[in-house]
Amino acid sequence: MLLAADADLILHNGRIVTVDSSFSIKQAVASKDGRITAVGDNASVLASERGAKTRVVDLHGQTVLPGLIDSHVHPLGAGLSEFRTPLPTLNSYEAVRSYVLARARVTPKGQWIVVPRTFPTRLSEMRMPTRELLDVAKEHPVMFDASYVVVVNSMGLKVSGITRDTKNPPGGEIVKDSSGEPNGILRNAQDLLKGVDRAERFTEAERLDALEGQLKRYVRAGLTSVIDRALTPEEIELYTKLKAQGRLPIRVVMTWRMPTAGNTEDLVRQIRAAPYRVDAGDDWLRFGIFKVTLDGGMTIGTAYQRAPYGEFGEQLYGITNKDDRGQLFVPPDKLLAILRAARDKGWALTAHSQGGGAVDGLLDAFEALNREKPLAPSRSHLMHASFQTPESIARAKRLGVLADVQPAWLYGDGDALGKVFGDQGMKYFFPLRSYVDAGVIFAGGSDHMIGHDKNRAVNPYNPFAAMWTEVSRKTSAGKVLHPEQRISREDALRSYTIWGAYLQSAEKRKGSIETGKLADLVVIDRDILKCPEDQIREIEPVMTVLDGKISAK
Ligand SMILES: [Zn+2]
Repeated sequence: MLLAADADLILHNGRIVTVDSSFSIKQAVASKDGRITAVGDNASVLASERGAKTRVVDLHGQTVLPGLIDSHVHPLGAGLSEFRTPLPTLNSYEAVRSYVLARARVTPKGQWIVVPRTFPTRLSEMRMPTRELLDVAKEHPVMFDASYVVVVNSMGLKVSGITRDTKNPPGGEIVKDSSGEPNGILRNAQDLLKGVDRAERFTEAERLDALEGQLKRYVRAGLTSVIDRALTPEEIELYTKLKAQGRLPIRVVMTWRMPTAGNTEDLVRQIRAAPYRVDAGDDWLRFGIFKVTLDGGMTIGTAYQRAPYGEFGEQLYGITNKDDRGQLFVPPDKLLAILRAARDKGWALTAHSQGGGAVDGLLDAFEALNREKPLAPSRSHLMHASFQTPESIARAKRLGVLADVQPAWLYGDGDALGKVFGDQGMKYFFPLRSYVDAGVIFAGGSDHMIGHDKNRAVNPYNPFAAMWTEVSRKTSAGKVLHPEQRISREDALRSYTIWGAYLQSAEKRKGSIETGKLADLVVIDRDILKCPEDQIREIEPVMTVLDGKISAK
């Protein structure tokens, strides 16, 4: 007779949404040594897996999902952003003004005040601020951080020596008002600022604490795997240390983002010399993906589009030329040379490609590489690809290229972007149904970068709110953005489980609840497949199981 298996953990009497190939629902799941050993009905799993030391949890009908995967996070920056001081929600000019005044009271005169990253698409005014708003601080230089675009107040311009006569830096712009004076907006020109100390100083121990803290918050949100999307070599080191100290609370795939400012030959040499290997590492921490930043952002009018930003773009982004299409940071030849070198190292390739022009440019490069050698096995992907067309979707499918998509932007920025691009221009904005129909696999990611709270952060990383957006396409104003692009709850779940696993070439080890896979599960407080649609966003995890261990409640 066979000895009874002695499971570490059995969850039974539940609704186990396995996300296997037939999307089957089971009652019980058992795990041992971090692996799933059985999935099935209550009686058979208990009979075959229960031993003397097994921890048995009666779920009383609760729903269990595979551990969720967020395919786009920036936990270090986010963790540090509120490491010392909590951040306010900055959703209007009034909130920005109060923040600046409050900081002015506690900041020595003459020292820079930096308004934490805020996008004009998320301000109720839907208008890029100019120096006047920040001039509430008279004795401090102030910088409003909208990533590739910043706005500074009059004193900020003055201490940096920026006047009506200052020349634009290469690829950047000092925006002027109708009288020719700088209005405070600097597009891709923040290197001109003098004395601004953007980064608070943190010791390595603090950085490790902040990273660990944020990764733990991810687990509490129901996530068991994430892809970090923009690491420097130093930050890759930081992860290695966190793991060596036994403090890595979640599975992480690392993306190296290489700055592309240097000349092509140097960059190619740097890639060839880089020590990263995709076959090293383990299921907790491994290097997997290479990234460059191809264009700017749609929330600030620098994403490189197929069509100009037009008149509303002038208001929303402070663009001075309504024919402006945004910025492409890497010319085609250089992009191809860089990606080819990375491909030759065996890495999955991606590039921040937000506007349609950037998407097309990245697909051109992918197509050229694919002619040399099939690209599909590398699981290379578009990143964001916010503005698609039927042609670009078909090209992605032909090449076997995937997409890393951000539902939180559809919710947070869809209304403002609708005013810029019009209804037709938004037809293929995060076109998830078109992806499903074409067979382009996509993975959901938050692009979480600032703030600790899963619902209030920039960008929110609550995976249930994200899946709700994929299903409903409701924006923050309650509008349904192109309902024909809504997807089923099952596909929304796939985008945060098995398709996320597929994107990181890990679909044989995670992403569904099947025997032999990693025992990563999340128990939730209502049934995501049956609850009223608007409740999907309210779902809370009640227990996360990671590597077979109950790791958060
Ligand atoms: Zn990102």
